[in-house]
Amino acid sequence: MATAYIGLGSNIGDREANLKKAVSQLASCCPVTILKQSSILETGPVDYLDQPRFLNQIIKIQTDLPPPDLLKTLQRAEIELGRKKSIPKGPRSIDLDILLYDDIIMSTRDLVIPHPEIKNRWFVIKHLVELDQDLIDPVTGKKFKDMIDDHQA
Ligand code: AMP
Repeated sequence: MATAYIGLGSNIGDREANLKKAVSQLASCCPVTILKQSSILETGPVDYLDQPRFLNQIIKIQTDLPPPDLLKTLQRAEIELGRKKSIPKGPRSIDLDILLYDDIIMSTRDLVIPHPEIKNRWFVIKHLVELDQDLIDPVTGKKFKDMIDDHQA
């Protein structure tokens, strides 16, 4: 059984309801157990700036699904929750990303783990630390909580 951290984001419609629906959808659709949920933070858009603010959250899950199957499951859930493909990095009712999957490091055409945006988004690191104080970045071997200090320095 693997432990993974999934990032959730929404900036269209009832953003909080979208996050809630995504969590219940994952809990009910698939071999995924929700272990913990972070708080919800409102954040400004990062890459494509001309769009509404996001609500972001992270959940910690346990699953038997290998990473590519977990990605497919998340993508199916995004579609079922009404996400339309439009502008890359643009507005979306729900975005689901694999942030970490055990201490796996992988990079294929479709899947990069740890998610490359973790290090650029302080709120993702903040949420990871909120869920697990001593969580370690498999790439650097550093505790995420020490990266918060780096961001604030
Ligand atoms: P997005 O628009 O943020 O949902 O990005 C989706 C694209 O990112 C998909 O084509 C995925 O194959 C790719 N991708 C690469 N790594 C990841 C990851 N760790 N989690 C989710 N999507 C990923």
